[in-house]
Amino acid sequence: MAKSNPFRFSTKYQDDETGLLYFGYRYYNASMGRWPSRDPIGEIQRPKARAENVYSFCGNDGVDYWDYLGLWLGSDHRSLTSKSFSSAWNGLGDASPCSGKKLLSVISDANVATDTKQPYASDLKQHYNRGIAEFSDVARDAYVSHVQSVVVEYSKLLEGKPDRGKCLEALQKLGRVSHSWQDYYAHAIGLNSPYWGDPGPIDGNPDSPSANLKPASWGGYNNWGEHGPSEPASREADMGLNRYVKAESFVTGKYPKMLQAWLAKCRCHCGGDWP
Ligand SMILES: [Zn+2]
Repeated sequence: MAKSNPFRFSTKYQDDETGLLYFGYRYYNASMGRWPSRDPIGEIQRPKARAENVYSFCGNDGVDYWDYLGLWLGSDHRSLTSKSFSSAWNGLGDASPCSGKKLLSVISDANVATDTKQPYASDLKQHYNRGIAEFSDVARDAYVSHVQSVVVEYSKLLEGKPDRGKCLEALQKLGRVSHSWQDYYAHAIGLNSPYWGDPGPIDGNPDSPSANLKPASWGGYNNWGEHGPSEPASREADMGLNRYVKAESFVTGKYPKMLQAWLAKCRCHCGGDWP
């Protein structure tokens, strides 16, 4: 099955990679107690990162880096995506011969790849993050135009009579934009929040981000900026902000039209081991 389909993702590889990524975080998180000062000014004044390490996903030992891209694990993105997709899919009516399970698997793999594969992984705007010296409004605008452009690319792929390749690419774009949508809720912090752990109220949405929120900054290795283990809501607790719920609900609202458009053009390709 895998051999007959050149487009099939290697899920295990991604999961292994994700596992490594999060091992880094856990290790770092577990050793947090040994860091005497969390003074944000101190953090910002740390020496500049070794640039070659910032986006490196291999060759590190787990102590030197952690997942700068997000506090939501790959499994969190998968479960959010699955919930949103299922709600939309169930409302679409007869989608045969396409398999919702297979479509979801392509979408979810592409979603998680946004944190694990280049060039998406290193592109901070795709994660509602910004560089430590980047202005909030510039980063916010870059995020919005990124999200919009992916949606436009999605529609373009479905123009005319798309072949299987374009249909597959469209699903992957849907997965990646889903990740960016979800990351708005994961990373947004209060505009005047100087450091980690002060998420502020979560309002606005990925199409219209709140002016009271900003993308958390990432300064690289040993130069955490506002993007740290307790920003914005920890993996363990949502701080009562319902980021999860809001992310799920936003994406659920986006899916029906987009899936409908996909089915209209691509369901003729479904069947066998293809979505
Ligand atoms: Zn991310």
